[in-house]
Amino acid sequence: MFIDNTLIKDIRTPFYYYDTKTLRTTLRAATAALADEQHLHLHYAVKANARKELLGIIAKAGLGADCVSGGEIQAAIDAGFAPEDIVFAGVGKADWEIALATDAGIGCFNVESIPELEVIEAIAAEKDKRVDIAFRVNPNIDAHTLAKITTGLSENKFGIAAEELLPAVKKAAEMQHVRFTGLHFHIGSSILDLATFIPLCERINELQDRLEAEGFSCMSINVGGGLGTHYEDPDVHPIPDFIGYVDIFRKYLRLRPGQQLHFELGRSIVAQCGSMIAKVLYVKRGKQKNFLVLDAGFTDLIRPAFYNAHHLIENLSSKDTETETYDVVGPICESSDVFQQNVVLPRCKRGDLIAFRTAGAYGEIMASRYNLRELPGSLVV
Ligand SMILES: *Cc1c(COP(=O)(O)O)cnc(C)c1O
Repeated sequence: MFIDNTLIKDIRTPFYYYDTKTLRTTLRAATAALADEQHLHLHYAVKANARKELLGIIAKAGLGADCVSGGEIQAAIDAGFAPEDIVFAGVGKADWEIALATDAGIGCFNVESIPELEVIEAIAAEKDKRVDIAFRVNPNIDAHTLAKITTGLSENKFGIAAEELLPAVKKAAEMQHVRFTGLHFHIGSSILDLATFIPLCERINELQDRLEAEGFSCMSINVGGGLGTHYEDPDVHPIPDFIGYVDIFRKYLRLRPGQQLHFELGRSIVAQCGSMIAKVLYVKRGKQKNFLVLDAGFTDLIRPAFYNAHHLIENLSSKDTETETYDVVGPICESSDVFQQNVVLPRCKRGDLIAFRTAGAYGEIMASRYNLRELPGSLVV
């Protein structure tokens, strides 16, 4: 990648570099995939990256927001998302978060359990309001992705089991302050094999048939997010296959007349617009290995340590034609603070800038102050 050195020469490292041009191009591709079909709605999953400059651009592009906390709902509203375009998921919604969402007039609560439904009913009653709810159903589908980001298996904490859906819908129908509007799903993240979404469509078709047989219909279906992005070769595949993704649902999901279809994409919207930039502190020569010790660690970018995830690593400073193999590591006092082993890079020296590509999603937002380190900075260009 290329960064204008005059922009970054005085910036403290590590920092996140965001390229809004890439974000806008991605947003155009994502919205174009909906082809102006009025029943298709795209939400941005705020948890992937809540930097306000990016949220503002995403809101202006016409996306709704998918939030998983009161803080995210507030950030979305502050950034200009219309409250009615906000959906709120999460297995542990606190009372204050439900109250905030009710007061704000969000579009839909994606309810994950009966006890939660009862609390929403009670809080909406206190406020003399009626709120729209959908049930998040656990479809028991394996997204074949990293274990820590698979969410749709039945042994997983998310959603209501399919067998419990009908009693839940009946219960909601008897309540005065919630209105049942549809079904919500989310099977996992980083999914590049689009065929993974076919069993989800089939599952939804079955569930709709079952509900209709009992006299219940859905106004909307929300299929969640999970579309992956290319971490290995971001320059070859900068834009995720949004058309292929939406087409799977066009082809396999049997929507009823007038039914609305919602998507909630996080990673695929923001991953490619961000890079994490760190500086080489030391090139440490071991017996068998060379270590590239950076001033960034898993406190700045946790995905490699947490999910075994891969980011393309580049040396932005060196044009050296000689290469060397390094274990790229951070300064944190944990042996898991390794970004990647055996990385071949142009020969590195102290002070070189190192880029971790495709770091716009689940990067800066997951930073912590462990070891009392400062949070990474950011530059939005
Ligand atoms: C995280 C999440 C998303 C977005 O997932 P991506 O893989 O980033 O697209 C969508 N919906 C829900 C409910 C989520 O928790």
